[in-house]
Amino acid sequence: MSIRLQNVNKYFNRHKANEIHVINNTSLELPDAGIVTLLGPSGCGKTTLLNVIGGLDRANSGKIYIDKQCISRRLTGGVDKIRNAKIGYIFQNFNLLDDRTVFDNVAIALRMVGVRDRKVIHARVKYCLEAVGIWQFRNKRADSLSGGQRQRVAIARAIVKNPRIIIADEPTGNLDSANTLEVMNIIKTISRERLVLLVTHERKLAEFYAERIIEIKDGKVVKDYQNDSDRYLDYQLENKIYLKDIPVKKSFADGETQVDLYSDAERSAEIRMVIRGGNLYIDTGGHFNVVDENSNIEMIDDHYKVMDSSIYEQNEFRYDECLPANFKARYRSLYTPWNMLWNGFKAIGKFRFLKKLLLVGFVFAAMFAFLAASNVCGIFKIEEKDFLTTNAHYITVSNPSHESALLEEVAALEGVEYVLPGDSKIRLSMPMDDYYQTSQASAGLTGSMVYAEMLSEAELFAGRVPEGDHEIVIDKMILDRFLKAKAGKMVGITSMDQFLGRKIRVPNLSDYTIVGISDTNSPSIFIPKSQYLYILTNVQYGDDENAHSFEDWSAYEMGSEGDGLQVMDYSLAPEAVKIKRGSEPDEVYEVIVNNSHYEEEGFKIGKTIDRKVNGHKLLLVGFYTSDRRADICYVTAETLRQEYIGRQKSMAVYAEDPEMVLQEIKDLGLSAKINYDRDRTNYLKAQKSTIRSGLVVAGIILLISLIEMFLMLRSSFLSRIREVGIMRAIGLKKRDIYRMFAGEILAITLVTAIPGIAIMYYILLNLVKITDYLEGLYLVEPFVAVAAFVIIIVFNLLVGLIPVFRTMRKTPAAILSRTDI
Ligand code: ADP
Repeated sequence: MSIRLQNVNKYFNRHKANEIHVINNTSLELPDAGIVTLLGPSGCGKTTLLNVIGGLDRANSGKIYIDKQCISRRLTGGVDKIRNAKIGYIFQNFNLLDDRTVFDNVAIALRMVGVRDRKVIHARVKYCLEAVGIWQFRNKRADSLSGGQRQRVAIARAIVKNPRIIIADEPTGNLDSANTLEVMNIIKTISRERLVLLVTHERKLAEFYAERIIEIKDGKVVKDYQNDSDRYLDYQLENKIYLKDIPVKKSFADGETQVDLYSDAERSAEIRMVIRGGNLYIDTGGHFNVVDENSNIEMIDDHYKVMDSSIYEQNEFRYDECLPANFKARYRSLYTPWNMLWNGFKAIGKFRFLKKLLLVGFVFAAMFAFLAASNVCGIFKIEEKDFLTTNAHYITVSNPSHESALLEEVAALEGVEYVLPGDSKIRLSMPMDDYYQTSQASAGLTGSMVYAEMLSEAELFAGRVPEGDHEIVIDKMILDRFLKAKAGKMVGITSMDQFLGRKIRVPNLSDYTIVGISDTNSPSIFIPKSQYLYILTNVQYGDDENAHSFEDWSAYEMGSEGDGLQVMDYSLAPEAVKIKRGSEPDEVYEVIVNNSHYEEEGFKIGKTIDRKVNGHKLLLVGFYTSDRRADICYVTAETLRQEYIGRQKSMAVYAEDPEMVLQEIKDLGLSAKINYDRDRTNYLKAQKSTIRSGLVVAGIILLISLIEMFLMLRSSFLSRIREVGIMRAIGLKKRDIYRMFAGEILAITLVTAIPGIAIMYYILLNLVKITDYLEGLYLVEPFVAVAAFVIIIVFNLLVGLIPVFRTMRKTPAAILSRTDI
């Protein structure tokens, strides 16, 4: 028993007004061999029943067993597996792959059941094609054959894998009577050892060939019987003329020529025949059609006889011929990653010109996808050089009350190296007076001041660490910016080593020399500890245009109109400054003024003058004489520091481990922020809108390319829907259909994305060299290209497979009928 059906029901348009109960509670048991025919008028549900048994369609209820395996309870994949291994399908309209050869059409069925040995495939396909009589056409395309020949290919395809069951749905429905008989004879032959379940509406054929006839009407089995009728077939063939059944009207012979005229015509005929030069010319006076030997007419000098089993008895077909001894049909995927891709490339090769032109669109899409990816990565890749404005060891602590005691308290905390009043940012001026023409030129080097004592040899890029008081080291990051901006070009500064030995000029102080270049990944300027106060109080702040130099704010209006006093460190006073009266300033807040103020009101030694430093009045301890400006008063360095502190609302704390120190500072109840974090947050905030616009552009570009991919693959898919239907019908699993198209998508992606990305990579690589701005905007690195490629592939696969996915939800029967696609 090869097939068993239990109470199978099938509806179309269930629960709708036009519901059809197309299989009505059918139960059947079918034998292992012989022809079983489903006979019934058109539309009674024969095809649907076959499809349900053959796994091309699903029943709504009931159980179906194929070779003892229940298929009605399985998922599609399981059904595919069983039907591929056990059932050979023959369709009314052949369902061959038109653009492939006869050989390939048959071989594919064999490969699907796991035969991979080329020799075995060749021998087996040859045997089957010979059995159906068309081996000579093996290299022709399927669509170049006649109907009868095509159906023979289809039969060969069905039997090549040695299936348990052959299902044939009106196999002769599209054939003329001669081909019908020949195809039926083949089918009869193959039914000797296998069950052939045959649908026909020709009772004559059924009664001649079938062992059992099941009559169906309106979805119900109305009759089911062994066919014991006498096996004779009364089947007049259009191409055979039985001469003895036609009366002889005339006959004449003259020794050389013999002419016999057979005629069943009622009316008289006037016929002239001429034989000349090997041709026979016939003139019927326009009353008869003339048929010649090209119409394949056969004249048989006998009476017509009904046919009997002798017409097929001499044929034979051996199911296991040329197959390996241990062969067992078992589904195997046709696609390995390699041939998947290879088939994809072949598919592209077959694209028409216009479609190939569309591929250029994918190249552009890939270009812009990479541009977008590069843009997004460029924006997201935040480098310290992009945002760090100070040395990363600094913590900014607020000191709104300008208390110097607070500075001392914080400086005493564990882990704190030192504390600077205000900010560490300074802007140093590097004269570029190398030439007469550039005597006024100078370059501004902005950075974060750090004690030179914090710098180790290992952090040097070039030069050495400062040894004297007027030696400084500048970090590579600062100099890199300077070089990039080409600001030193006019005096020929184009490389790092040219900075060594150059001077830095600070107002009121003698020049400093750059003795080294550090590589600390931070915009730092290393200055000896002894100098920090002088530099802080005499240079401008970094980039802050609103900040004033010490010079500006310390020149206070004092005493009578127009008379200002600038405080300066006495230890830095020039030689010419000499004490005239009283003593040198020694303690904090002690001051000496120019002798020109002597005897002026408010200038008495031992008394305070009307000049405050950080809230303290200065105590006059002496007068000096000098040839210099009279508006300068000299104090101690500590007084100077207090003056500076008094002007700052914050302090910069240097710590090896800022995280730890931050906690200690916060424990003191002060508000503080690690500069690194602050800079990063500020930078990100500023970048946010750039990121957003970058993402939007990237998204739009990707979307356009995806829509194009979708449309292109959809059209490609729709043009191949028949192929897909056939593949599914002959047992190819859904998985393999996906692979078939995935291969094409991958191939399209490879041939378009690689050049597209490469072109854009090249363009961007050259573009970012131009400006710093573009460099920050785009990241051009191999990993971005790879990432863009992967993204393109993934998206293309997802989008490209949507139409396939939608179709694959349908049953093979539905795809083949294309009713709703
Ligand atoms: P037969 O093979 O006997 O000619 P079918 O099995 O093809 O009959 O069809 C049986 C009935 O089901 C017919 O009325 C047909 O119109 C209907 N039918 C077939 N396929 C579908 C379908 N996919 N959707 C709706 N009705 C269908």
